[in-house]
Amino acid sequence: MTKTLLIKNARVVVTMDEQRREIDNGAIFVRGNVIEQVGPTPELPQTADEVIDASGHVVTPGLVNTHHHMYQSLTRVIPAAQNGELFNWLTNLYPIWANLNSEMVHVSTLTAMSELILSGCTTSSDHLYIYPNDCKLDDSIEAASKIGMRFHAARGAMSVGQSKGGLPPDRVVEDEKAILKDTQRLIETYHDANRHAMQRVVVAPCSPFSVSQDLMKEAAVLARSYGVSMHTHLAENVNDIAYSREKFNMTPAEYAEDCGWVGHDVWHAHCVQLDDDGVYMFAKTGTGVAHCPCSNMRLASGIAPIRKMVDAGVPVGLGVDGCASNDGAHMLGEARQAMLLQRVGFGPDAMTARQALELATLGGAKVLNRDDIGAIKPGMSADIVMFKLDQIAFAGALHDPVAALVFCTPSNVNYSVINGKIVVKDGLLQTIDLPLVIERHNQLASDLALATGTRKVA
Ligand SMILES: [Zn+2]
Repeated sequence: MTKTLLIKNARVVVTMDEQRREIDNGAIFVRGNVIEQVGPTPELPQTADEVIDASGHVVTPGLVNTHHHMYQSLTRVIPAAQNGELFNWLTNLYPIWANLNSEMVHVSTLTAMSELILSGCTTSSDHLYIYPNDCKLDDSIEAASKIGMRFHAARGAMSVGQSKGGLPPDRVVEDEKAILKDTQRLIETYHDANRHAMQRVVVAPCSPFSVSQDLMKEAAVLARSYGVSMHTHLAENVNDIAYSREKFNMTPAEYAEDCGWVGHDVWHAHCVQLDDDGVYMFAKTGTGVAHCPCSNMRLASGIAPIRKMVDAGVPVGLGVDGCASNDGAHMLGEARQAMLLQRVGFGPDAMTARQALELATLGGAKVLNRDDIGAIKPGMSADIVMFKLDQIAFAGALHDPVAALVFCTPSNVNYSVINGKIVVKDGLLQTIDLPLVIERHNQLASDLALATGTRKVA
C-alpha cells in the first residue's frame, strides 16, 4: 500500500491554483509523492498513515530556486571580492576556485541545499561551471539525492580562457569536445524526464564571455536532441553588454537568438540589462529569466525590469545566485528582495507580496519547464512547506499572514515535505546531520582559502 500523509488545521493554505485560492483552516491529503486532495480541514479525510497538525502555520507550495552556484558557499565574503563589480569580482575568485576538489563540491552542495530547504525551497537548480582537479557534477547530484531535494543539475562549462580573449584563466577552462561528451554522459546517466522527477540534467555553458559561439550552438543541438533544458548567464551588467557588442556585434538577446538559445526550454540568469526588444523576443518565444535581486544589488549590476517582463508575458522565476555574490541564500528572503527592489526601481505598486510569492513558486516551475510543481492542487508533486506564525518576526502581522511571509523578516520553515517525504520536522533537517556537515564545510573553506593565500582585509 502507498503511504498517505495528512496536513490539517492550517491557518491558511496558499494553493497557487488557477483561482489563487487561499484556504483558511486548510488541509492537504497526499498519497505517496502526489497531492490527492486539497480543501477545508472538515471536508478532507480525517486520518492518514502520517498526520501533521499545521495549526498556526501558513502552508505554501515549496519554493523553487532557479539559479545558484552551490560550491560558492565555500567562498562567502572573500575579502578581495567584497566590493567589486562582476568582472572584477570574478577575476579575484577564479584563482581560488581553481583549487576546488570533489569533496568540496559534495559538501558545499549539502550545505547550500540545507540552507535553501530551511528557507522554504524544495526544488533547486545548480549551475556548476568549473571542474578543476577531480570535480564532477556527479558530486552535486549525489548530495541532492542524500538530502532529498528536487534537483535540476546544470552542467556548466568554460572554454575560452584569457589567452583567447575570455575572462577566466586558461587553467580553469575545458576542451569543448570533452565538455559536450561529459554533458551527454550526465544526461544519459541521470536525467529523468518523467512527471514528479527528482533529478533532471540541464545543458549550461557558463556565459558569453567564457565560452565560444560554436559551443553555445552545439550545446543547444545536444540539449534538444535529448529534450533537456538549457541555462546560462545573460545581460548581467553594462560590461557584459559591452563585451557582447564588441565581440559579436550583437546585444545579448540577439546573441542568444543567433545561437538558438531562446524557447520555453531555455532560461537565462539575471537579464538586468535586457533591452525592450529583448523583453519582447523573450515573451514571444517563452524564454525564461532567473531574477536574482540580492546578487544584482551586491554587485551593483542594476535593477532588472521584472515588472515589464511579467507584463509582457516573460516567464520569470527567482534565484538566490551563488553564495559568493549573495552571501545569504534565503529563498523567502529573495522573494522579499524581489518585491522591494522592483519598488525602488518602478514605484510602490511595481510588485505585491503575493506576486513575489508567485514568482518564487509558479514562476520558478515555469522557468524550469515543469507543470508538476509550484502549486498545491490534486495531481501535483507533494512539495509543501509550513511556516510557524507565533514567532517574533510575525508579531502584529497576523491579519494577513500570507503577505507577512514576504514583508516581515525572512523566516525558516517548521516543516518541509519534498516529494511526499518529511525532510524538515520541528525546524530540523531529518536527512543529514547538519552540525557535522557545517563543521566539515568550514574546514574545507579554510583549506581552500589557505591554498590560495586569502587573508583578512586590513
Ligand atoms: Zn550566476
